[in-house]
Amino acid sequence: MSQKQTTKITCPKCSKEHDFQIWSSINVTLDSDMKEEVLNRKAFTFECPDCKEKTIYTYDFLYHDMERKIMIYHVTSNEALVQAMESFAQMKNLEGGDGILDGPEVEGYRKRIVRSLNELREKIFIFDAGLDDRVVEIFKVFCIIQLKQSDPDFQADEAYFFSRDGEIGFQFLREGKAFGEVAVDPADYEDLAKNAADILMKDDQEPNFVIDTEWAYKCVTAED
Ligand SMILES: [Zn+2]
Repeated sequence: MSQKQTTKITCPKCSKEHDFQIWSSINVTLDSDMKEEVLNRKAFTFECPDCKEKTIYTYDFLYHDMERKIMIYHVTSNEALVQAMESFAQMKNLEGGDGILDGPEVEGYRKRIVRSLNELREKIFIFDAGLDDRVVEIFKVFCIIQLKQSDPDFQADEAYFFSRDGEIGFQFLREGKAFGEVAVDPADYEDLAKNAADILMKDDQEPNFVIDTEWAYKCVTAED
């Protein structure tokens, strides 16, 4: 079940106070409409009933997809990050879950922690495409290294996986704006997945919950 609560929010435009519904847990299997609301950010958009101003409010919550066996904590502070780590560690010890799950096995679940809604979207797209986010992040790092080699001025603040019309690749952002993208050959992804077998095995034994570019850089640079 998804869990929500009501909080008071002061509209940044007209300064009036209104109720706003925030979710502590979003189960997209049981509440299938919620997935779209996460992707289009409706779940985080406050529309002021008075002045109609729309504001995005981010908060800590758990994204849970029972079908794909995915749990992703979206955290907005380091404190919440530590809590999410502890929560995942506890789930492992309890085996049967900790109440959030209503009983299903947590074994075989991919557990992740993300620090932005963009990162959460990216994870959802990756898992929907049936890919391994660890391989995708390593691929992303290789793409960035290659782009920098061919153009020393290349600089991206953010890079995200995309999947559209059967094509996959990465989109690059600078100062919040998309300025370019590269397509990825699925065969190259498969090759990389094979070459990264050691990294993946190591991660399987001691799973990391934060799988991002930083994690991938570390893996790549730790290699001979
Ligand atoms: Zn207002």
